[in-house]
Amino acid sequence: MGFKLDVPLFIEDPNRIPAGKIPENFVSYTLKHQEARPPITWSNWHREIHWVHFFVLCVPPTLGLIGACSTPLRLETAIWFVFYYHLTGIGITAGYHRLWTHRSYKATKGLEYTLAILSAGVVQGSITWWARGHRAHHRYTDTDLDPYNSHKGLLYSHIGWLIFKPRRKPGPADVSDLRSNPVAIWQHKYYLPLAFLVAIVIPTAVCGYGWGDWRGGFVWASLLRLSVAQHSTFCVNSLCHWLGDKPYDDKHTPTDSLFTALITMGEGYHNYHHQFPMDYRNGCKWCQYDPVKWFLWTCEKLGFATHLKTFSDNEVQKGELTMQLKHLRHKQEALSWPSEKSDLPVITWEDYQRQAESRALICIAGFIHDISDFFDKHPGGSHLLEKNVGKDATTAFFGGLYDHSHAAHNLLSMKRVGILLGGVPHGSEERMVPPSQHLRITRHSELAGSGSPK
Ligand SMILES: [Zn+2]
Ligand SMILES: [Zn+2]
Repeated sequence: MGFKLDVPLFIEDPNRIPAGKIPENFVSYTLKHQEARPPITWSNWHREIHWVHFFVLCVPPTLGLIGACSTPLRLETAIWFVFYYHLTGIGITAGYHRLWTHRSYKATKGLEYTLAILSAGVVQGSITWWARGHRAHHRYTDTDLDPYNSHKGLLYSHIGWLIFKPRRKPGPADVSDLRSNPVAIWQHKYYLPLAFLVAIVIPTAVCGYGWGDWRGGFVWASLLRLSVAQHSTFCVNSLCHWLGDKPYDDKHTPTDSLFTALITMGEGYHNYHHQFPMDYRNGCKWCQYDPVKWFLWTCEKLGFATHLKTFSDNEVQKGELTMQLKHLRHKQEALSWPSEKSDLPVITWEDYQRQAESRALICIAGFIHDISDFFDKHPGGSHLLEKNVGKDATTAFFGGLYDHSHAAHNLLSMKRVGILLGGVPHGSEERMVPPSQHLRITRHSELAGSGSPK
């Protein structure tokens, strides 16, 4: 009764939380205070289906597959299928995704209307609806406020989130720019006739009037092309969070993969995209398959697009280097390393000489090494080792007799059993560190805990 919340019970817009009342974590706070629909079970699934989405996503492929059994695919129709697939796909990738959701470039009104019309051929809802969901996806990636949270499974993030009513409202995302965008308003107003015209009528009519293949145009270029294009986009939400590498960051699930790039018109460099979403490229390297990047670059040259945004290469490389260091650190941790100075017993010179009478000990660069098991393996012969037992062989090891290889120094350091009281003569500290440890990868927390440098 007397319990008082520091912040409002439910936060509709994280950008409008009163100063001083910001919760520890917006996502966990919202999930705790927002009501969710019950989980989908065998007893309630039929009540939880989103029937409009179900119709749009299931009827065209079903009719298309049935029709394909009795409709031969003519070469002209096949070529038109591939061409029109890319043309309408550009509407989604260059329009919905990179222009309206991420504002990664500016387009002329002519290009905006063209993309708005073409995108209707893939029937994925209006610009504003799509961008609202996708902005929430980027803002709350991998949480329950992400409409296609990939932690809910591959099938759910691919199509389940559309077929079933959402369990929660997607996290807040600002689309006020699109609500006042005349192209987005126009497309929203005429979406249904536009979608019917661009997705069904045009592809069928081109085949019909072009080479007399009305039936093939309807089955292949219209219904099946529509389904393939839809699933190509869905793969960005499913496969691109599941298959491939994480070359820029591994905090979340997005991945980079040539395979997914090929099936999503270049959107498969999704790890890069989630790190640098305002970059007009998804594949930032010139050789990476990203036809939308090439399309937008051409549009810029022709004057249809301006202000193509790219992320600072210096920051991109930092992300790449961090991941490379992470992988190297794993490799480093899997290897055995010499005992540290602090882990070794400190031995006086007299003690060292006394123990060397019964044990093959040799002193090099301030460390005492037990070389008992190395006599027969020493490439220079055992006699050179024998005459240095119980002595300081630092000079002999580092060039006095033979300037040993880095590998020899690395191996020697693995035989440390003690450290000589008084250490090494000034100026020879470099020799105490084996070459394999000159460039060790150290975590920031380890550096902070190591105290003052010795
Ligand atoms: Zn994503
Ligand atoms: Zn995106």
